[in-house]
Amino acid sequence: MALRIHSRTIPAVVLMVMALVPGAPVHARSDPRDRARVAVVYVPPSDPAHGEIYRAMRRQRVLERLGDVVRLVRLPRRLTFRLKGCGGEPNAWYDPASRSVTMCYEMAAAVVRLAPRTTSPAGVTREQAIRGPIAQILVHETSHALFHLLRVPIFGREEDAADQLASLLLLHLAPLHARDVVSGSGYFFATLGRQEPVDKGSFADVHGLSWQRFYNLVCLAYGSNPARYAHIVAKGYLPKERADTCVEEYGQVSYAFERLIVPHLSARPRRGQRLQRAWRVYRP
Ligand SMILES: [Zn+2]
Repeated sequence: MALRIHSRTIPAVVLMVMALVPGAPVHARSDPRDRARVAVVYVPPSDPAHGEIYRAMRRQRVLERLGDVVRLVRLPRRLTFRLKGCGGEPNAWYDPASRSVTMCYEMAAAVVRLAPRTTSPAGVTREQAIRGPIAQILVHETSHALFHLLRVPIFGREEDAADQLASLLLLHLAPLHARDVVSGSGYFFATLGRQEPVDKGSFADVHGLSWQRFYNLVCLAYGSNPARYAHIVAKGYLPKERADTCVEEYGQVSYAFERLIVPHLSARPRRGQRLQRAWRVYRP
């Protein structure tokens, strides 16, 4: 996922809120072999402008928290999560050759820069607008890693599939945190969408357009629990015509998860359990 946004100095105030997903399952019943299969690396930045992001993300153990979630999966090979400076390029990716997920400090800086100073007109807080996209980007890249390491077959575009798996995982955090991530990531995609020049070439990209990624995200959120996310339709963030199919769309992603990912989890959900309940098994 590459964003063409140039770095500026990062306002100091925001970096206390970089914790990835405080409601996420951590230290579930994984054995030492599973624990050894995830490594985290914080490469000190050479650009002093990124020092505060580096220290905040390290202090808040963002990669370790992500690693704790990923350890629920029996990985056949070691997966490395890395934060590093990328010479000015705001980017994040999964590299199959080194089996590593990398997020650039520039990418985190871009997320920070796009966040509202306090609260957006739609009520998204600065904290949500930072925490949500950082979680979404890291889990999206992790989804590519899972597809590769677990040899998951994919129909359709891998970028869409990675968004779907990331959304599904993030929607299964504790309800309040899930809502924060949906609000923050929705804000991020919508803000990018407003800035995104669209021409013929835009449709050739392997990624969906930002507005498509926005609608896919809020559709899955609404489909996961129409009562909890009723405001998404009531406030007009999702057209009624699309909302009508979202429960079905969520069911499709949920079914794919049950068939393709659940068999690789270190503790199987009990027979007949649905995903919504099964995922809670792994909470500490
Ligand atoms: Zn991707």
